[in-house]
Amino acid sequence: MKKICVFGSLNIDMTLFVPHFNLPGETLTGTGMSIFTGGKGGNQAVACARLGAPVKMIGCLGDDANGAMYYEKLKEEGVDVSGLKVCRDITSGMAFIEVVPEGENRIALAVGANGLLTEEVARESAAAIAECGVYMTQLENPLEAIIEGMRIAHENGLTVVLDPAPARPLPDGIFALCDVVTPNETELNILTGMPTDTLEEAEAAARTLLARGAKMVLNKRGAAGVLLVTADACRLIPGFKVNAVDTTAAGDSFNAGLAVGLADGMDIEQAIRLANATGAISTTRLGAQPAMPTRAQAEALMAEQG
Ligand code: ADP
Repeated sequence: MKKICVFGSLNIDMTLFVPHFNLPGETLTGTGMSIFTGGKGGNQAVACARLGAPVKMIGCLGDDANGAMYYEKLKEEGVDVSGLKVCRDITSGMAFIEVVPEGENRIALAVGANGLLTEEVARESAAAIAECGVYMTQLENPLEAIIEGMRIAHENGLTVVLDPAPARPLPDGIFALCDVVTPNETELNILTGMPTDTLEEAEAAARTLLARGAKMVLNKRGAAGVLLVTADACRLIPGFKVNAVDTTAAGDSFNAGLAVGLADGMDIEQAIRLANATGAISTTRLGAQPAMPTRAQAEALMAEQG
C-alpha cells in the first residue's frame, strides 16, 4: 500500500458539558469535562492509521504538555511523527468546546502552533511528501502553506485530496492542484456561493469547481452518502444505514477511508464505499478519534450491507 501524507492541524479539544450556554459575566459550573486529541489533520491521520494504512503527519505542536501528550498519542496510534514540528514558546492548538444537554455546541479556537505551519515548513517537508502516494489536507492552517504543500505533492505525482473545511472562499489556483475535493453541503455552498440543498443544485455547484480546475468533487451528504461529480459523470453513492448518535468527525473519518482506499489501489467507487463505511461507523460512537473504526470493522459493515 502507498503511504499517505496528512498535512494539517492538531488541536487539543477541551470539552465541557454545561446545563446551558454561558452568558456574558456568568460563571457556570459544568457537569463533566473531557480532553480529546483533535483537529482535522490529527483526526484524519489517526483514522488512516486505524484503517491499517502507513501514514505520515506533517503539522506543528507547541512545546507544552498538551503537545507532548498529542505527540505520544500519534505514536501510539502508529502514525509516522517524523514530519511533526515541535515549536518553541507557543502553545499547541486548542479548541474550547461547550456542549449543552440538547447536544449543540459552541467552539472557540486558539490556533497556537497550527499558525506556524508555514510555506517554509512545507518546503522543508518536500522530501517527506515526495515519498508518499496520497496527500490529504484541510483548511485549518495558513492558506499559503496549504497551497505550497499541495503544489509539492502535485508536482511529485501524488494523488491530492483537499477537504475544504472549515470552509472559506478559495483562490482559483488551488483547485488545479486537486485530484479530489470533498466538501459537505455547507462547504460547497460557501466555496461556490450557490445553493446545494438538492442533488441538481449540488451538481451545478460542483461543476463550477471542475471549471476552476478540480478533477473530481465528492459532495458529502450525511446519511444520504456522497455525490460524485466529474467532467463526464454524476452519481450518488448511497451511505450505509446505521444508528447515528454523534456525527462529530464523520467528515474526517470519510476522508481517511477515501485516502486509504486510494492508497490501496482501489478504483474511486470502491474507495468511496470504504469512505462511506468509515464515516458511518464513526457516527455510531461518541467523540472524534475514539469513534474511528478499524479496517476489519469497516469491511464487516460493507459485507453486511452488500
Ligand atoms: P461532515 O462531517 O463534513 O459534515 P457529513 O455529515 O456529510 O460530513 O458526513 C461525512 C460522511 O460520513 C457522509 O458522506 C457519509 O458517508 C457518512 N455519514 C455521515 N452521517 C451519516 C449517517 N447518519 N448515517 C450514515 N453515514 C453517515
